[in-house]
Amino acid sequence: MKQRAYMGIPREEIAWNPTIDEEKCVGCGQCMEVCPNGVFEMDEAAGKMKVVSPTNCVVLCDKCMAFCDQDALSFPDKEATKRFVAERLRAAAQQAKASDGKR
Ligand code: SF4
Ligand code: SF4
Repeated sequence: MKQRAYMGIPREEIAWNPTIDEEKCVGCGQCMEVCPNGVFEMDEAAGKMKVVSPTNCVVLCDKCMAFCDQDALSFPDKEATKRFVAERLRAAAQQAKASDGKR
């Protein structure tokens, strides 16, 4: 399977996905309904939502958070994630420049 990437960075290397506070989650299903990407799955036995495919989450999207009445969803710091992506892009550009110079 082709590895997914975000701006050329392997998706797995970017820590961006929702975290569910199990204490707060009431299993209403709103988050799963609003997300088209298969990130969530309902744990019917527990009556709680689960994050089953974290890397399906679109980097820097936090749309589902607004739909959780229980305030059970959280995300990493957006600015820190942007900085991480920018640093990786800078590093990749420098590497490309260095290998160009070797030719
Ligand atoms: S919207 Fe919130 S309370 Fe409802 S299932 Fe999702 S995480 Fe749980
Ligand atoms: S942030 Fe966006 S892509 Fe990620 S789980 Fe929520 S709605 Fe889906």
